[in-house]
Amino acid sequence: MVGRFAPSPTGPLHFGSLVAALGSYLLARQDQGRWLLRIEDLDTPRVVPGAADAILTVLDRLGFEWDGEVVYQSRRSGRYRQALDVLQQKGLLYDCSCSRREILASAPHPGEDGPVYQGTCRRGPVPGRSQRATRLMVPDRIVCHTDGVYGLREQHLRSEVGDFVLKRADGLFAYQLAVVIDDLDSGVTQVVRGADLLSSTPRQVYLYSCFNAPPPHYIHLPLALARDGEKISKRHGQGVEITAQNGAGAIWMALDFLGQNPPAGLRNAPAAELLCWGVTHFRLEVVAPADRLVETTVVHDK
Ligand code: GLU
Repeated sequence: MVGRFAPSPTGPLHFGSLVAALGSYLLARQDQGRWLLRIEDLDTPRVVPGAADAILTVLDRLGFEWDGEVVYQSRRSGRYRQALDVLQQKGLLYDCSCSRREILASAPHPGEDGPVYQGTCRRGPVPGRSQRATRLMVPDRIVCHTDGVYGLREQHLRSEVGDFVLKRADGLFAYQLAVVIDDLDSGVTQVVRGADLLSSTPRQVYLYSCFNAPPPHYIHLPLALARDGEKISKRHGQGVEITAQNGAGAIWMALDFLGQNPPAGLRNAPAAELLCWGVTHFRLEVVAPADRLVETTVVHDK
């Protein structure tokens, strides 16, 4: 079994990403599996300088031991280019010259991840326009997968998402392509991450089939919500940053958040002890498939 944690260095580690790190770590170690780390710094305009190192440092200080070298997406463009060529040769890609405004205007029902693309450029981009993005043609069928927490999931890619972008208009490779290629190349068999990526999973499952590879087992963990009902993120300020000082308490809270009933006597235990408890006692069956509010103020520096 090979699991992984793949944070985007757009800010420090926060409670939401700690939940994903913890869940993926405990499930991998419980199975005597490997646990890999990948820094998803592909979207360079959103990368915060120093954030990747800060995330690695705090994970290390808390005792999350990863296997092998850390993979950085920003160093793998050549590999993504090659993967795109494979799909090109299979006739699955096309250039799209539509602007964002045109896509919005032509979309009858915006999907969860933005407007559904209607396939305007499938028969060739509008003449006289420079190419903007590269899209993958999706089939007219339902893609299914069984999630470890959310159960059977189905999505009709063509009507719910449309042909999706693998290389963006600004020249950057899209997350959907990079995540599949990286997990494939690293031999990842179990993907544990936040439920905000549930709606991306059918696209990734379909991409695996384009590369004639079986998809990993997906486990999406419920999202930790801040009091405003939004997913906890760096927008919620310094109070939710996980540090070497508040990290052990945050691990206890993350275990509690995931329904694991950590003993009250371990509330002030060191991080290593909590991780050890988690490897022995973590049960996926008790993780409820529902996002939950978390009092972010309780995750503060001691
Ligand atoms: N980099 C993504 C994030 O930080 C996670 C991607 C994944 O786990 O597939 O939200």
